[in-house]
Amino acid sequence: MATIHLVPGDITEQSADAIVNAANSSLLGGGGVDGAIHRKGGPEILAECRALRASRYGEGLPTGRAVATTAGRLPARWVIHTVGPVWSPAEDRSGQLASCYRESLRVARELGARTVAFPAISTGVYGWPVDDGARIALATVREETEGDDAFEEIRFVLFGPQAYDAFTAAL
Ligand code: ADP
Repeated sequence: MATIHLVPGDITEQSADAIVNAANSSLLGGGGVDGAIHRKGGPEILAECRALRASRYGEGLPTGRAVATTAGRLPARWVIHTVGPVWSPAEDRSGQLASCYRESLRVARELGARTVAFPAISTGVYGWPVDDGARIALATVREETEGDDAFEEIRFVLFGPQAYDAFTAAL
């Protein structure tokens, strides 16, 4: 069973085997954590994302899926890009949000990443209520890492006090 840590801060500054990006399906960059990762990680990440678009994901990466690239200049080995669902008051998309965490861990396991850092997927521009996002994140990661010694540490890197408080309360 992996240790789950909550840390306030910026995911681009984290040393970890893999950091997870809350990307969009274009894989070509965006705002929020995605923008920060590409800005600080440099052009190598975008080059690999472009290559993925040209090969496996011509129509974009579907919501709830995950794919890895280099981490470029970041202090991590890989960036795992996943596409969170946009929050909808009319439709329950929590299965898609859980899938982001599950699929990211599956990719991390394949890579042999032992420490993985996650942001609070979908809780920024995509509008997911952070308390609920925290609950889904923690429940899914617990479920996926229970009885599994593939991971040493799963770290949630929480940008701003609201996300940190929500994850602390959910844990
Ligand atoms: P989404 O489109 O999935 O909502 P965002 O990047 O807008 O993605 O937001 C996801 C979460 O990441 C939000 O809680 C936001 O505050 C947070 N965030 C933004 N920048 C960073 C960063 N540099 N490190 C960690 N988390 C970040």
